[in-house]
Amino acid sequence: MLPSAAVAPDGVEQIQKILAVVNAYKIPVWTIGTGRNFAYGGPAPRKSGYVMLDLRRMNRVIEVNEKYGYALVEPGVSYMQLYRHLRQIGSKLWIDPAAPAWGGVMGNALEHGAGYTPYGDHFVMQCGMEVVLADGEIVRTGQGALAGSKHWQVTKHVAGPHFDGMFTQSNFGVVTKMGIWLMPEPPGYKPFMITYQKEEDLEAIFEVTRALKVNQIIPNAAVAVDLLWEASAKTTRRHYYDGKGPLPPSIRAKIAADHDLGMWNYYGALYGPPPVIENNWKVVEDALMSIPGAKVHFDRKNDPAWDYRVRLMRGEPNMTEFSIMNWIGGGGHINFSPISAPSGSEALAQYKLIKQRCNDHGFDYIGEFLVGWRDMHHILMIMYDRADETMRKSAYDLFGLLVDEAAEAGFGEYRTHLAFMDQIARTYKHNDGALWDLHHRLKDVLDPNGILSPGKQGIWPKAMRTTA
Ligand SMILES: Cc1cc2nc3c(=O)[nH]c(=O)nc-3n(C[C@H](O)[C@H](O)[C@H](O)COP(=O)(O)OP(=O)(O)OC[C@H]3O[C@@H](n4cnc5c(N)ncnc54)[C@H](O)[C@@H]3O)c2cc1C
Repeated sequence: MLPSAAVAPDGVEQIQKILAVVNAYKIPVWTIGTGRNFAYGGPAPRKSGYVMLDLRRMNRVIEVNEKYGYALVEPGVSYMQLYRHLRQIGSKLWIDPAAPAWGGVMGNALEHGAGYTPYGDHFVMQCGMEVVLADGEIVRTGQGALAGSKHWQVTKHVAGPHFDGMFTQSNFGVVTKMGIWLMPEPPGYKPFMITYQKEEDLEAIFEVTRALKVNQIIPNAAVAVDLLWEASAKTTRRHYYDGKGPLPPSIRAKIAADHDLGMWNYYGALYGPPPVIENNWKVVEDALMSIPGAKVHFDRKNDPAWDYRVRLMRGEPNMTEFSIMNWIGGGGHINFSPISAPSGSEALAQYKLIKQRCNDHGFDYIGEFLVGWRDMHHILMIMYDRADETMRKSAYDLFGLLVDEAAEAGFGEYRTHLAFMDQIARTYKHNDGALWDLHHRLKDVLDPNGILSPGKQGIWPKAMRTTA
């Protein structure tokens, strides 16, 4: 989809003036922060003709509070920018970046994105927002609503309802400031990687991980990365195979042997005073190394995958994961992201279903499971060559099928690509779709002219609902 124009305000007043004009002429705008939402459609609008409301010029780090561990940022602040800012002012606070360093601290949290330190659930770590509503009114959430508040970024709680979530993955307002909690640099850090030999090990891995996570023995978002995602930082598919369809098992085994990889490659880290780390490591080791064939790594020479994961788990943004774009070549990628519980049998069932469908459509399974507080994000990266129309169509067919099959099996997506927002919205159909009805009722009240990001997450203004 192609926009018709773009406007890039540099402050709240300019946003208010833009909204006055687009309300008067009923012109839809599509809001982006740093605009790098790749794998989920990038900065493109849902329909051609929208005007981009590009907030990249609003890129001020308004406050860093070393004592309480937070920052207040504008929408255009990228991970790399915040990281450099903290280092420049001599701060000992860490950020929690998503894998792409160019991503936005705000845009990613608004999309419910995730990173790899103990502060990896970005919306959980968000605290306080300033929002411009469609009619130009400015609202501060939480304690920010108190005149002269000193505690906007230290507590999410306030008398009355908690509204921040309403402005995430939605089109109810333009967020202009957001607080984010930052982790103080710990006195010790111990990253580790464990390779597992068999695909079926996934079940045992997550049965063991659940207790380690829920009890905070492993405090960060541990990930189990499949063989090919891991290999893509070091090699390409065509280096091993020039046939079509999924890689034969013999080739997969060769890739694993050449690069000392497992079918699953598990990353986690321990943080804190060294004696605590060493104690906790014994518990982790007993649990995760009990699976036959497990091999632990504390260092890997000349391995860019290990290097970038170690950096991400200590809050250093980088772009290495984008080498995955070279795996097939041609740059096409789209992420399918269902949620599951941290349960071994559920993870394995989801993996088997998805892998089978990928193979049926001629694709390799390339994915990872990332464990949160009580959930797992399963990220399937469907890679295709954008110049190959047949392959592109198969990728989209596969995605559409997965949405429905996963929903039938009880797995919903936590986030999605633009092209599938309506289909995914329809899978949330409890009580005749009461949740999306509620979204629509709110949309009609807050944005009666339907100017803010129509169609975002399958939420359409009244005038566009029948045509969507
Ligand atoms: C190889 C690869 C690895 C990735 N790894 C990760 C990962 O580790 N973790 C992860 O979470 N994601 C990951 N992604 C997905 C995605 O690229 C990142 O999440 C990226 O940070 C999102 O882009 P952004 O921050 O620039 O968001 P933006 O594009 O700025 O914003 C995303 C959306 O949020 C909304 N929005 C943004 N700003 C505002 C605002 N001010 N007001 C109202 N609405 C707003 C808009 O709807 C916008 O479309 C990955 C993608 C790829 C291709």
